[in-house]
Amino acid sequence: MSAFVERLQRQHLATVKPYVSARRSASGGTVWLNANEAPTTPAASTQEQWFRYPDFQNTALNQAYADYAGVTREQILSCRGSDEAIELLIRSFCEPGQDAVMITTPTYGMYAISAATHGAQVVDCPLQAAEDGSLQLATEAMITRCLDRTQAKIKLIFICSPSNPLGNMVKTRALERLLDAVGNEALVILDQAYIEFVDSNHPQFDSAALLARYPQLVVLRTLSKAFGRAGLRCGFAIAAPEIIAVLSKVIAPYPLPSPTISEATHGLSCEAIMVMQQQLQRIAEQRERLIAALQQRAWVKKIWPSTTNFVLVNVADAQSLVQRCQQQGVLIRDQSSQPGLPQCIRISIGSADDITRLLEVLPA
Ligand SMILES: *Cc1c(COP(=O)(O)O)cnc(C)c1O
Repeated sequence: MSAFVERLQRQHLATVKPYVSARRSASGGTVWLNANEAPTTPAASTQEQWFRYPDFQNTALNQAYADYAGVTREQILSCRGSDEAIELLIRSFCEPGQDAVMITTPTYGMYAISAATHGAQVVDCPLQAAEDGSLQLATEAMITRCLDRTQAKIKLIFICSPSNPLGNMVKTRALERLLDAVGNEALVILDQAYIEFVDSNHPQFDSAALLARYPQLVVLRTLSKAFGRAGLRCGFAIAAPEIIAVLSKVIAPYPLPSPTISEATHGLSCEAIMVMQQQLQRIAEQRERLIAALQQRAWVKKIWPSTTNFVLVNVADAQSLVQRCQQQGVLIRDQSSQPGLPQCIRISIGSADDITRLLEVLPA
C-alpha cells in the first residue's frame, strides 16, 4: 500500500480484518449451500429471483462504470449513493474526536453532517468572491490550514464541482494548486455529482486524467442526477486502488441490492448513456428558458450562472416565495440558511411542463 494512504487511514484499520461474506470467500461451484439462502423466492413479483445475496462488488456494474469514466475497475467502489461514499471516507480516515474534514461553504450539506455524526471536526474555509463575481476556493487559506500542525489534522478536503448549490465549477488551476501544495497530507474529495451537465471539453470532465496525476484524489460520482436513478441509490468512489482497499474494509458486506445492480448496469449500457445525453440537452434548454423568464421579473436580484440541472436565484424575499409556490403545489428550495446565500432559492430543472407550471405560480 502507498505509504501515505497507510499513514492517513485510521490507525486501527491496519489490523482490522474485513468481514468475508460467503459470496466473497467462495466463487464458482454449482450447488451453493454456504450462505443460508432460500432455494427460491416464494411468490416473487417478477421473473427475477432474489434469494441470492448480491455480490460485494459487482464486476459487470463496476466495469461498466469504469468504461464510462475512463478508469480501471480496480479504481471503483460502488456504494449506496455517493452519500455513502462521503460517509465511508470519513469513517475510514478520520479518528473521531481528533481529525477534521475541510469544507468550503456554501457547499453540499452532507459533508458536515456525516462528519458530525462520526465525531470528526468540521473546518470551514468559505469560498471567496473572485473577480468574475463567482465564488471560488480560498486556495491559499485552505493550504495554510491543511498544513498547520498545531490544529486538528485535516484528513479530507471536500470540494463540490460543479457546486451544489451554486451551479458553477471551481477553477481547475485553483484545484491543481491545492492538490500540489497539500500533497499527501490529506485526501482531496472532488464531488462530481453533476459532471455530466458540464461540457465534455472541460478539463475536470476528464477525471481519469486528474486521478492519474494525483494519487490523493478521490472522485465521487452518482447515478442520481443526470442518469435519473436517484431511487436506486447507486454512486461511485473513484480513486487509487489503495484508497479503494481501505474503503472496502469499512463498507457493508453486501452494499448494493440486486435490483439496484441490475438497473444500474442497464443504465450504463451504451444505448442508455446516449439516451441520458439526449435528456441533458432537454434539461439545458429548460434551464435557459427558465433563466430567460426569470430575468424579466423585478423581484429577481441575481441569477447565478449554472452548468447543472438547477439554478440558484437571489430574490427579494426567499421565504415568502417558497411558501407561495408550495401553496400552489410547486416545491422549490430555500438556500438562505447556507452561509453567504441569504435570500437565495434553488430551483431544479424538471420537465417542460414542470417549468411551465412553476412560471405560472411565480409572481409576475
Ligand atoms: C445529490 C448529491 C449527492 C448525493 O447523491 P447520491 O448519489 O444520491 O447519494 C452528492 N453530492 C452532491 C453535491 C449532490 O448534489
